[in-house]
Amino acid sequence: MTTIEHWISGAATPAGSVRTAPVYNPATGEEQARVLLAESSDVDGAVAAAAKAFEAWGDSSLSQRTRVMFAFRELLVRHEDELARIISAEHGKVVDDARGEIVRGREVVEYACGIADALKCGFSDQVSRDVDVHDFRQPLGVVAGITPFNFPIMVPLWMHPIAIATGNTFILKPSERDPSASRLVAELYAEAGLPDGVFNVVNGDKTAVDAILDHPDIAAVSFVGSTPIAKYVHERATAAGKRVQALGGAKNHAVVLPDADLEFAANHLTAAAFGSAGQRCMAISVGVAVGHAADGLVKVLARKATEVKVGPGDDATSDMGPVVTQAAKDRVVNAVTSGADQGATVLVDGRALKVEGHENGFFVGPSLLDHVTTEMDAYREEIFGPVLAVVRVDTLDEAIALINTNPYGNGTAIFTGSGEAARRFQREVKVGMIGVNVPIPVPMSYYSFGGWKDSLIGDSPIHGPAGVQFYTRAKVVTTRWPRTANPAAALHFPTSN
Ligand code: NAD
Repeated sequence: MTTIEHWISGAATPAGSVRTAPVYNPATGEEQARVLLAESSDVDGAVAAAAKAFEAWGDSSLSQRTRVMFAFRELLVRHEDELARIISAEHGKVVDDARGEIVRGREVVEYACGIADALKCGFSDQVSRDVDVHDFRQPLGVVAGITPFNFPIMVPLWMHPIAIATGNTFILKPSERDPSASRLVAELYAEAGLPDGVFNVVNGDKTAVDAILDHPDIAAVSFVGSTPIAKYVHERATAAGKRVQALGGAKNHAVVLPDADLEFAANHLTAAAFGSAGQRCMAISVGVAVGHAADGLVKVLARKATEVKVGPGDDATSDMGPVVTQAAKDRVVNAVTSGADQGATVLVDGRALKVEGHENGFFVGPSLLDHVTTEMDAYREEIFGPVLAVVRVDTLDEAIALINTNPYGNGTAIFTGSGEAARRFQREVKVGMIGVNVPIPVPMSYYSFGGWKDSLIGDSPIHGPAGVQFYTRAKVVTTRWPRTANPAAALHFPTSN
């Protein structure tokens, strides 16, 4: 059986690790590899390698860094198929969906290819006689990223291309459930000409995370994962004096108004609820049917949910693969059962689904719950599986109030033909990313990604301009080159003249 090692200073290494965790093939339920779990001394080794590499990389030219990013981007294109298959085999998502996350992640590399422009700062000429002011930004040093299982390549790509292009060195602690994509990414960076030690991968669990959070030589931590861990990471790492960006969980609502094209809305809700088996932080898990939209909408949704073809991720005819682990499957099944017990109507029930030839896989079919209320656990919990809960309300006001009362605020969408309703909606919802007739409004890489409320702890969104800010700090320089002998300096506080 393969053992997945760390990648430190440009080479695969077990470091001092002996503990391991299983990596499953979710489509068969079989253990297909073991991943090493780092001890804190292994994190020390990675930090030392990254700190050494920073001495040169932090001083490298913009041209050198951009050249590496362009080469890395080309390698991601060339290895797209291989990467997509690695992701599908460990995560379970269908290969085409894995390609989608590679493309969206690659867009961040494309943004990083233009880092010279993103790093341009300001210059103010003649702020006072013979005096100019300019600012510039410098890298932080060694920075780290801790990432979730659901986007094993895209979420790390939200972080490391920008961190590296701005001159930092990086330590990635990927999810222990699907670590192999990160290993290939490390090899591609090396092939692209990135010096050893600039990008490192440390596999592990809480022990590795805690070592990162406490390490005095790590300047910043980027985290994406569930809200309780995001809060923990934010608290512990900021207490250790680090910059932290910490993105948490979600419960995303899609509002369907009576004037919407119901077939169109149901199509998009189906894709957004059941794509990747609902394991997306921007998945739609709540459909909010307004007024007389409800009966028609649930009818189309029920038909479409039953049409979703569930099967292994490497079968090109599958629309949806398994969930990531047996525990995830149990959580989904229990959520549907609790919804039924608490009074929801189960219109489509995916609990008992079996996939022929894959009886031990972690498969669960799409479920559609109607008449869900805010008191039910199926509404309150982040299920993170293929379950769409429909809540019925009478007005747009009620829909907005529902969304604003929910503790999460990652993404939301409205389906309508009314510009007035859409405009009101986008101005009044307390949510960071909003779609108008777009169910999964993930911002392009040249914007920044981040929710509100419990979906983002602290105040730093990720990638785009916010990413550049996060991974750099500014200096403001005031310069005087006197043309003639100036009068003696006065002791009063300097003002312009
Ligand atoms: P998770 O919080 O369990 O794990 C995320 C990372 O934290 C992993 O690397 C894991 O090893 C580490 N970790 C887990 N438990 C820990 C602990 N007790 N102490 C220290 N570290 C720990 O999340 P997951 O199950 O891998 O991913 C799914 C979650 O991520 C969902 O809640 C989803 O909404 C969220 N997510 C959010 C976004 C976003 O952009 N807001 C994006 C993707 C996923």
